[in-house]
Formats: sequence, C-alpha cells, structure tokens
Amino acid sequence: TLNQYVSDVQDKINVSFEFFPPKTEEMEHTLWQSIFRLATLKPKFVSVTYGANSGTRDRTHDIIKAIKSKTGLVAAPHLTCIDASQEQLKQIAKDYWDNGIRHIVALRGDIPAGQPNPQIYAADLVKLLKDVADFDISVAAYPEVHPEAKSAQADIDNLKRKVDAGANRAITQFFFDIEQYLRFRDKCAAENINVDIIPGILPVSNLKQLEKFAQMTNVHVPNWLINMFTNIDDDPETRKFVGASVAMDMVKVLFREGVRDFHFYTLNRAEMSFAMCHTLGVRP
Ligand code: FAD
Repeated sequence: TLNQYVSDVQDKINVSFEFFPPKTEEMEHTLWQSIFRLATLKPKFVSVTYGANSGTRDRTHDIIKAIKSKTGLVAAPHLTCIDASQEQLKQIAKDYWDNGIRHIVALRGDIPAGQPNPQIYAADLVKLLKDVADFDISVAAYPEVHPEAKSAQADIDNLKRKVDAGANRAITQFFFDIEQYLRFRDKCAAENINVDIIPGILPVSNLKQLEKFAQMTNVHVPNWLINMFTNIDDDPETRKFVGASVAMDMVKVLFREGVRDFHFYTLNRAEMSFAMCHTLGVRP
C-alpha cells in the first residue's frame, strides 16, 4: 500500500538542510519559520554557511547554537580555512567541541580576487580538525569539476585526500545534469572513495538568480532549464510551479538511481525543500 511504501522509504532516506546567516530582522524571521517547519522532517543534520557572503564566524556559531537549543537537531557549522591561521582554526574547533558541536562542514573557502594561491586546502583542514577531536566531517565535491582544478582527475584525487584525511561524507555543488552527477559518483566509487556523495539540490524559481550562482560556480545551466523559465520573469506564480516541477523530477530520478541521502540548499525558505521531501516520502 501507499502507506507502507511511505513508511518503508521514510526509514531509508536521510535529508539535510543548509541555511545561511540572515542579514536583516525580516530575513531572520523567515529563517526561523523555515527551520521549525523543516525540523518536523527530522533531518539527519542541518548546516549553516560561513564566510565572505554570510558574515562572520560568530554569526554562524550563534545560529548553530540557537538551532541546537531550540530544536535539538544536529547542527553543523561550515568552516573555511583560507582566512584563518592554523592556531585560530584549532581554537575554533576546540570551542565547537566544547559546545557540543560534533559535525563540521570543512571547506577551503573562495580565494578573494587578486590574492595568491592559498597555503592550505580543505584536506589540510580535515586533518587539523581530526587532530583536535573526532568530529563528524562533511566536505565539498564537484560533479562538474571545481573551477580551479587542474583536471577532473586532480579534483577527484583531492576529494580522495579529504576522505582519507577523515571526511565522513561529501556534499556536492548544485547541478542540473543528473547524468554528470551519476558519472561522478561512479568515478568516486572506482577510486575507492567509500563515502556517500550526497547530491546538493538547489531549488530554482528565478532564472536570473540561478545564472548568477551558476556563473560564480561554473555550473552548467542546461538549455532545457533556461527554456523552462523563458518568458515568465514577470509571472512569479508560474515560475513557482515550473521550479517545483523541475525540483520534483530531479529528486525522483535521483531516488530511482539509488540516492538515499539528499542535501537541500534551502536559501532559508522551507517551501520547496519541504515539498521535495514530501515527494520522497519524507514527512512529519
Ligand atoms: P578544496 O577541496 O581545498 O579544493 C579547492 C581547489 O583546489 C580544487 O580545485 C582542488 O582540486 C584544488 N586543490 C586541492 N588541493 C590542492 C593542492 N594541494 N594543490 C593544488 N590544487 C589543489 N564557501 C564559503 O565561503 N562558505 C561556505 O559556507 C561554503 N559552503 C559550501 C558548501 C558546499 C556543499 C559546497 C560544495 C561549497 C561551499 N563553499 C562555501 C564554497 C567553497 O568554499 C569553494 O568552492 C572553494 O573554492 C573550494 O572549497 P573546497 O573545500 O572544495 O576546497
């Protein structure tokens, strides 16, 4: 029966949600409404970004603490290493551990324009964190290859270094080309990268915003997607339906391909992520 299907699936699927520190009081209100709504889906963890576009570490840390105390969820701060010394990073890690934070999303961070290549990469941060304590660590992966990587193989080798240093899972950059993700997942398996390569799902409702994100990250926006959003710039209602339809199709195909862990870039809104979870059978 459908009920049986839903409850079988519910036990197998893990979802996680990513938020960013809000910039205004109004955005903060939206964030908390979203967190409380999505918390009913019992995510495996929720994460909060950190860095240039989202303010200081303190803001990330404050939200993480508040999520933990208000919802009891596993709350994972993102941490970048290019903008701090090794000593500072160790101190930050100790503080997190002492505050009961056990899961960190370990990243290098983007190099500010005009700065030389960094001395430290995410693999080094994973090792540093593991030296401080036995954190649960997520790292980033790039199905369409990180823009700075020398080659696709070099980028996979880098992911392997991060996993060998102790990362427990990888979360991908967002993508729309599912074939590309599946090939990437196969390549990781062939290289003995034995952790989940969790797809990072970005719900789209606005092509202009998407094109901005995609340009920053070198993610390919396929023509079919551009076509879907053409001529509806001034029609938010249709954009919402179209975006929802694209998102539902995507999670359904990934599920059919055996994906059981999903990470949602919520953009601090619950609606689309909640609906995708519902489609997957993940319900309150
Ligand atoms: P790394 O794994 O260190 O890789 C960076 C690049 O360097 C790759 O091209 C890699 O192939 C190459 N490389 C690695 N090691 C070497 C080496 N020894 N020599 C030469 N090249 C090397 N950014 C933020 O600022 N804050 C966030 O909260 C944040 N959250 C994110 C969450 C997710 C799920 C993802 C996918 C990205 C996030 N980012 C965030 C963006 C991320 O910081 C950038 O993509 C950054 O440019 C790379 O980070 P990384 O951890 O993948 O770096």
